[in-house]
Amino acid sequence: MSVVFLNDTYLPMAEAKISPMDRGFLFGDGIYEVVPSYNGEMVGFAPHIDRMNNGLNAVEINLGWSHERWKDVCDILIEKNGAGNLALYLHVSRGADTRRFHAYPEDIEPTVFAFAFEIPPVPVADKTKVVGYKVAASRDLRWERCQIKSTALLGNVMHFQHGYQQGANETLLYNERNELTEASACNAYIVKDGVVITPLLDNQILAGITRHILLDLLRKDGSIPVEERIVTMAEVFDADEVWVTSSSKEVVPVIEIEGKPVGNGEIGDVWLAAQTIYSAGKLNY
Ligand code: PLP
Repeated sequence: MSVVFLNDTYLPMAEAKISPMDRGFLFGDGIYEVVPSYNGEMVGFAPHIDRMNNGLNAVEINLGWSHERWKDVCDILIEKNGAGNLALYLHVSRGADTRRFHAYPEDIEPTVFAFAFEIPPVPVADKTKVVGYKVAASRDLRWERCQIKSTALLGNVMHFQHGYQQGANETLLYNERNELTEASACNAYIVKDGVVITPLLDNQILAGITRHILLDLLRKDGSIPVEERIVTMAEVFDADEVWVTSSSKEVVPVIEIEGKPVGNGEIGDVWLAAQTIYSAGKLNY
């Protein structure tokens, strides 16, 4: 039975209860994070908490927790749930109101919920061990505030489901100008002639922590050029390699999009080099 954190108490998951008037439940009015941890070592803890604080500020939820306070919660959840391959899910909603009214209420306490769930073993830079993704592609129909990691994920869920029901692992998304944005739960990249290219950070995508760590490590390493710019879907279909990244998956090669092979349909050498660099450097963040 997993032990979870809810409003300053650690308790078994089955005993954790929130009000049906919680605005997270009624409106998806909340912010969340997912931090990976392997054998008790978290990847990107500080940037994850910084991003959560940015999200909380953007929606004016005043929680005011320090990094240390979050670190304590994460460390205790890791200890109580057995350090292995875990993701720490951290969730802050605006809290429970007495009525269903859209405006932000003034005097309610945020609901803070956190739990640990098992994720696949630490990804390795090995073409024989990684499973390449087959993905769908779809016009991005989410909102125009995708930089906020909101718990209101129905748009993402519907895009993921679109791919899932046709057997795809993910769904790549593109805007009305046929430009790649991201995927339903990952950032997206192409590789062309040895250059890694990924969409710029703006309101159309989440500023992924894996993206941040990967681009920083690649730039410091210097062996693989990186560009952040508009990527058209024509470029995606013409790419040598396509990848998606997220915290629990790291760098995942995409081998097929909408039934068409990416490049020669094999996992690429630039992926291998990039995941090698990521694996070597990720614990420094
Ligand atoms: N984009 C979306 C929409 C996501 O939901 C996620 C992760 O959940 C990402 C990108 C990747 O972000 P990170 O690398 O911080 O996990």
